[in-house]
Amino acid sequence: MASDASIPPATSSLRANRSPRQIVVFPAPVLLQRARTVERIDEFIRELVADMVRVMREEEGAGIAAPQVGESLRLFVVQARPATEERPAEPLGVYVNPSLAMVEGGVEPFEEGCLSLPEIRADIRRPPKVTIAATDLEGIAFTRTDDGMLARIWQHEFDHLEGTLILDRMTPMDKLASRKKVKLLREAYDDETKATRR
Ligand code: ZN
Repeated sequence: MASDASIPPATSSLRANRSPRQIVVFPAPVLLQRARTVERIDEFIRELVADMVRVMREEEGAGIAAPQVGESLRLFVVQARPATEERPAEPLGVYVNPSLAMVEGGVEPFEEGCLSLPEIRADIRRPPKVTIAATDLEGIAFTRTDDGMLARIWQHEFDHLEGTLILDRMTPMDKLASRKKVKLLREAYDDETKATRR
């Protein structure tokens, strides 16, 4: 894919002895805390981004934030639409240390899911039009405004950098409806944590 030209391969000596990154699922603490600023874009960050892109595509997500692969850093990648036979993919976006500004007041509901909250979906109310300011993987600052799917994804991924999940933005009704699934995720996480400690 042409848009991948600047993304280095995920293999790196930095993490040679560690297992490949994979999606981190609720309620892992890294998802519930505010992520740290990226101080500089180095080999570690480039390799992390390559890994995030791989995981995002494996999981067929439209975006992924660094905490979702276990790294508490202010960084996310977005690919609003993968390539199909009919049309090329949307360009891959890398957003380092992003900030968001609302352009117009009001909110609109739209159904969202989250790779870190499997099988949970809900209408989330967000402003339809926002401006994002961030740095790309080459260290170049940029600003972009969108009023469509990108604006929605930016806000979802930005929330991850603040430790905010769609669970926190659901209506009380949707929260109630998801209660069972949330409980199962908590139990699965507890079981897995115990198993790793053994
Ligand atoms: Zn998410």
